[in-house]
Amino acid sequence: MRIFKLKGGKSLMNESEAFGRLASVKKTELEQLNLQAGTVLPAIEVKATEIICNRCGQKSSKRRAALPNEQYFCPQCKLLGRLSTLDVLYTIPEPNRFVEIYEPLSWQGVLSEPQTRCAQDLKVVVQQRKAHLLWAVTGAGKTEMLFEALAYAIKQKMRICLASPRVDVCNELFPRLKKAFQEVDILLQHGRQEQTYRYTQFVVCTTHQLVHFYEAFDVLIIDEADAFPFVNDKMLKRAVETARKKKVPCYC
Ligand SMILES: [Zn+2]
Repeated sequence: MRIFKLKGGKSLMNESEAFGRLASVKKTELEQLNLQAGTVLPAIEVKATEIICNRCGQKSSKRRAALPNEQYFCPQCKLLGRLSTLDVLYTIPEPNRFVEIYEPLSWQGVLSEPQTRCAQDLKVVVQQRKAHLLWAVTGAGKTEMLFEALAYAIKQKMRICLASPRVDVCNELFPRLKKAFQEVDILLQHGRQEQTYRYTQFVVCTTHQLVHFYEAFDVLIIDEADAFPFVNDKMLKRAVETARKKKVPCYC
């Protein structure tokens, strides 16, 4: 694993932080990196009357986005870390560089007959990379029904994301998934916690956090897709499209 270093020797970023991700780097620091692979793109594209953000894909008027010295920032995704014309986005194609886990599922529970049928359908959906809507009431065991499909995906070294518009749903799912997949490195990401980003096979995050990813996930599950703020939010819908690998459907 390469660590990109600044001239002074200070570690700037681990290469894996750019796997399937739009890592923001200051332009001034970029010049000091010796990039071997991957793509660098402008964070903000400046047009005649508006700017376009390459992270969230949204347009803003130049007036709203203006900073001193003719620089611009994206007001639309500023809560996810301010991105400006002083930054670039750096990405390395997702390599699925994960250790092989032969029996990832530690969960010992038993599913009912209808749940088992649903779980088998979901596994086929993942195997065939199809889109699927699982619509179940709270307490129906949706998460447990996903376990078999998730275990299959982990064994196949697929990268997985389970995202929800709601922080409380992420916080509730994370310990359950960690318990069910004890050998799997799972990362929790949302705006109200301090866990630093690192490259993992399995990510649990809010749909907002998906704007940081770029063609990263082989399996992307959106829980509570009908919840605010996901419904009718074009930035979040675009984030889902961008975060999953091309031709990988969305399971929401
Ligand atoms: Zn933006």
